[in-house]
Amino acid sequence: MKLARLATAAAGIVLATALAACGSSEKTIDQQSGGATSTAGGLVGVTMPTKASERWIHDGDNIKSSLEKLGYSVDLQYAENDIPTQVNQIENQISKGAKLLVIASIDGTALTTQLQEAADAKIPVISYDRLIRNSPNVDYYATFDNATVGVQQATSLLTGLGLKNADGTDGTATGPFNIELFGGSPDDNNATFFFNGAMGVLKPYIDKGTLVVKSGQTDFNTVAILRWDPATAQRRMEDLLTSTYSGGATVQGVLSPYDGLSIGILSALKSNGYGTQDHPYPVVTGQDAEVASVKSIIAGEQYSTVYKDTRQLADVTVKMADTVIKGGKPEVNNTTDYDNGNKVVPSELLQPVVVDKDNYQKVLVDSGYYTADQLR
Ligand code: BGC
Repeated sequence: MKLARLATAAAGIVLATALAACGSSEKTIDQQSGGATSTAGGLVGVTMPTKASERWIHDGDNIKSSLEKLGYSVDLQYAENDIPTQVNQIENQISKGAKLLVIASIDGTALTTQLQEAADAKIPVISYDRLIRNSPNVDYYATFDNATVGVQQATSLLTGLGLKNADGTDGTATGPFNIELFGGSPDDNNATFFFNGAMGVLKPYIDKGTLVVKSGQTDFNTVAILRWDPATAQRRMEDLLTSTYSGGATVQGVLSPYDGLSIGILSALKSNGYGTQDHPYPVVTGQDAEVASVKSIIAGEQYSTVYKDTRQLADVTVKMADTVIKGGKPEVNNTTDYDNGNKVVPSELLQPVVVDKDNYQKVLVDSGYYTADQLR
């Protein structure tokens, strides 16, 4: 296995050297593959974590079609959140002679060996949405401003509770309000960015006693949900309702970092009697503007989500990939915030947008992200 990998890596180096030397790489690759397809740009390997969440399907589809328009062929793979599967997919793409890898990792710390193999074969790597950690072999990072996502989630929680107005001024509510906190997967670098961004906003209110985390669970590792699993979030919410709220207290707000978790959380709340006129749901946040959650927002269940236009992210990533493959240096707008434990990875950060009942039509439908029918 190891020998095969070495041989592949060596073959990659020989190929890369040959291509660089002949100066007409596109023609050469076409001739080598028999020239039968219109994929003169060569192969790009794209790995996404899972199809269980709709956003990654959009991401994958958008990247694939944009790369294909530029003349690349694309190997798009999903790993259903299984780390060894993703590792194999990446190794395969390296063996197939991919010219570049776009990776949305499952566990950001688990790919060091594969990235070394890619580097040995002179295959550049773009970390997609999630930062790959502990490796010098990550060339660029394309993502949304993850700290801002957390700030937006927390601010929206405050708005939902009436502690803030939509324009950012202080609201008339005074609290105290009972809230609970949820975090994303601890192996996803984004999860701490979201949580820390949110806590920066919530902490002053918690310190003053305006917000009360009644369970006392405020530490990221305690509230984190491995692999972003909705069922785990549902169980944790049920446990919290039993341990902390069975004596008659009410939970009024839940910081949830992802729509899938929000659905699990709302379902635990529903089976515990929330969601009626007398006993309304707490303010529950989210992320990704997934169809089921937008419908839930329209129905007055989930309070808000954070919309990240995956079309934009795919677009930025494809431009980056094309520039890198052609030997250029892509533009980035952040060279300070994303230290992966080995180096600061040059990053392009896009801006997320909070969506609630008041603006979903404008932000999601008028922009063409969803049709009105999809949200019915
Ligand atoms: C992404 C979020 C997503 C979460 C769960 C994070 O890395 O940035 O958009 O909600 O993973 O899939």
